[in-house]
Amino acid sequence: MIRIATVAELDPRDVTVFYRVDYNVPMEDGQVSDATRIEETISTLQYLRERDCRVVIGAHMGRPKGERNEKYSLRPVCEHLSKLLNTAVYWAEDCIGEDVIAWVKELPPTGVMMLENLRFHAGEEKNDPEFAKELRKLGDFYVNDAFGASHRAHASIVGVAELFERDQRAGGFLMMRELEFLQKVTNVSERPFVALLGGAKIAGKIEPLEALVKLADSVLVGGGMANTFLAAQGNSLGASLVDSDSLAVAERILSATERATVHLPSDLVVGDDVKNPSKVRTVDVGDEIAGDEMAADIGPKTLESYSAIVSEAKTIFWNGPMGVFETEQFSAGTRGIAKAVSHAAQAISIVGGGESVEAVKASGFSDRISHISTGGGASLEFISGAKLPGIEVLRKSSDGAGD
Ligand code: ADP
Ligand code: MG
Repeated sequence: MIRIATVAELDPRDVTVFYRVDYNVPMEDGQVSDATRIEETISTLQYLRERDCRVVIGAHMGRPKGERNEKYSLRPVCEHLSKLLNTAVYWAEDCIGEDVIAWVKELPPTGVMMLENLRFHAGEEKNDPEFAKELRKLGDFYVNDAFGASHRAHASIVGVAELFERDQRAGGFLMMRELEFLQKVTNVSERPFVALLGGAKIAGKIEPLEALVKLADSVLVGGGMANTFLAAQGNSLGASLVDSDSLAVAERILSATERATVHLPSDLVVGDDVKNPSKVRTVDVGDEIAGDEMAADIGPKTLESYSAIVSEAKTIFWNGPMGVFETEQFSAGTRGIAKAVSHAAQAISIVGGGESVEAVKASGFSDRISHISTGGGASLEFISGAKLPGIEVLRKSSDGAGD
């Protein structure tokens, strides 16, 4: 069990808190298009403000590669946060430097300031000690709710945290919630445990998949990932997305005798294009798929059998859509699975992954999911058993950290 210091134990009062969050939110036309990650931090922000703390918020957006780039400015996020908190959020044009230090000093109790994108400085991603030292000047306490970035050993996640004393650094309420639910997956106590994996590629999801076949009772594979498994079994899949670099791994996973039964689709929805298909049909696996056709969704028989397995589950973890859900003709599988997961009333259900979360929200069933993780890559790494640097640095020495 991983236990980290919590902001509630820290009990900060009337101090300045450097608060690292993951506000790497989707944007459309210069506006925040999905504010979930911002909304999820409100409880920590209000807690700190109720205790007369000043809060200096550090975050990143996109991959500006160490250079200032207006396209990745956090200013629209600052405005959005201001509306959500119903209070002025001060804007800092940069995240380090004399001016920023001076602005922080001027903050009134309960005042909130948002710093410009940390990744405008190359030192952030390099975990540069000098950059970390500059960030350290912006607070008396360090609180991290950026679960989605905690698998990265960056300056604002690790370097700066190490510069605070143990009793000055902690996880926020969002971080605690992520850990609580993801540990229900890694320390599974309620079975059957059903894991669903889909999405575009196997590469990057191999380690989590190998961990899940050891932990879960059933692993249901869909999406592009299923194509690769079906190809590994010798099926020809036309123009389907197949990760040919991962065929050997797929074969190994299929032949391994771990705890879980790995289920593959028995039928598929194929089309001549994933975005604007003019011809769409359902085929059984093993049926001929034409050279220009691609498998873009699980078929109705697969949906039915997967849904039946999901309905018996007590623990569910889902990452990666079952098909190209962005296209109406290929959305039924993902929508159906979202419904099945949300209707498994007796189960603890956890969904992670950028597109998976988007798909669950679009299905209208997201309220019935126990936990929607704000971190895709981070949640997968956590489940694989990897040590997340941003969590390790907050661990209590009493929980056997370093084992
Ligand atoms: P997540 O963000 O949930 O971790 P991924 O990033 O791995 O998921 O993959 C999401 C993408 O996978 C979606 O945009 C979806 O269109 C695509 N996808 C799913 N199934 C297929 C398929 N059969 N062929 C091509 N793309 C697919
Ligand atoms: Mg994705």
